Amino acid sequence: MIAEIICVGTELLLGDIVNSNAQFLSRELAELGVTVLHQHVVGDNPARLRALVQEAKDRSDLLVFSGGLGPTADDLTKETVAEVFGDTLHFDAEEWAKIEAFFARTGRRPTANNRKQAMVPTRGRKLPNAHGTAPGAWFEDAQGRAAALLPGVPHEMKAMWTEDVRPILEARQNCTIHSMTLRVLGGESDIASRVAPLFESANPTAAIYCKTGESEIRVTARAANRAAAEAACRARIEEFRAILGDNAYDVDVPGLAYTVVRTLRERGLQAATAESCTGGLVAEQLTAVPGASEVFGTGFVTYAAAAKTRLLGVDPALIERCNVVSAPVAAAMARGALAASGADLSVALTGLAGPGGALPGKPVGTVYLAGGDARTGCVHVARLNLCGYGDRTIIRARAALQALDLLRRMALGLAPVNAVTLAPGQQAPEL
Ligand code: ATP
Ligand code: MG
Repeated sequence: MIAEIICVGTELLLGDIVNSNAQFLSRELAELGVTVLHQHVVGDNPARLRALVQEAKDRSDLLVFSGGLGPTADDLTKETVAEVFGDTLHFDAEEWAKIEAFFARTGRRPTANNRKQAMVPTRGRKLPNAHGTAPGAWFEDAQGRAAALLPGVPHEMKAMWTEDVRPILEARQNCTIHSMTLRVLGGESDIASRVAPLFESANPTAAIYCKTGESEIRVTARAANRAAAEAACRARIEEFRAILGDNAYDVDVPGLAYTVVRTLRERGLQAATAESCTGGLVAEQLTAVPGASEVFGTGFVTYAAAAKTRLLGVDPALIERCNVVSAPVAAAMARGALAASGADLSVALTGLAGPGGALPGKPVGTVYLAGGDARTGCVHVARLNLCGYGDRTIIRARAALQALDLLRRMALGLAPVNAVTLAPGQQAPEL
């Protein structure tokens, strides 16, 4: 099957938004074994849209659209595609009732414009929109050439694709597709070189996507039924895990904080944070996870040296002697956070996020990370060298990720990365 993707929207042409819908749709179609010949972007202009749709329909089996389903006069995608596919639109009372109900829930009333959104194909079919107002549409001509019209809003588009369009295509391709995403701490090139042979397989396929401080490995299997596709994914994920070890931290989670919260909950542990250079990023990520209150009660943001003393009991003489950005101060912050919160585990960060403020022997990007464990009284402390990774935002994000990983490792009883472990009462060396 040969497909083309057509994204409609003048804001895409102006560069106001990134065309992430095209990326998503291309990836999904590739996984289904559909060949994508072209990705197009076209403004809200009916004449140019009609010419493009006609041209694409003449050479491809499937056209996938995103955008242009809205209520305004310039949203003409549905009308235009209906015409090229020799179909018409009619008013659908059931969709109109859904649109009215959607508005009522938010205390509003639909305008006359919105009636346009309740127009659905006569010979084709409507695609329900579980997350927004406008239904999508599916058109098909006598030769079996088809067009799927999806909303522009990314989460509505993805839901409609997954729930309505993908199943139609799976049936046509006579297969079921399943994907799983393994999340791995570390850079893409390092990871890719260790697992290179696993990326060469045609089924399941595997692709790596680089994120800040970590990578995602997406494994996709095609099989006759769902159970077989899932089993093939799981087996391949296990092969990745066997090679990547502890750095491969979870499957199908939005991020490391989710894994940390789940792990703490499973082990019945409470965590606390003490943050300087990250200004609360670690606490923010933990509390973004539903149910975080079961495992996280206290986060300190101690940005000034005096706050480290007042809230965490860090000795001002220690700060004076070692500098506030130092391993001994990070360790003292981690101990102080345990004492002040009564938590089982703590993480503390103090560092130089830049761009100014470098110290002799401590360039921008030098961050000290400490983890306190009330069960043993031990503190792990590490120096992170995040220089060379980019700007302040990236340094802070990477430091927060390392802190979450230290929490995970302490909770699971795994060795912390490149850390010195201090016995109870022992002062940290300069690192
Ligand atoms: P609406 O009912 O909101 O008008 P629509 O289906 O007409 O929806 P658009 O108006 O084209 O869709 O886009 C709505 C929003 O969705 C845009 O403002 C933009 O933020 C986002 N969007 C649209 N197209 C894309 C795209 N190709 N990639 C990423 N985001 C997009
Ligand atoms: Mg619109």
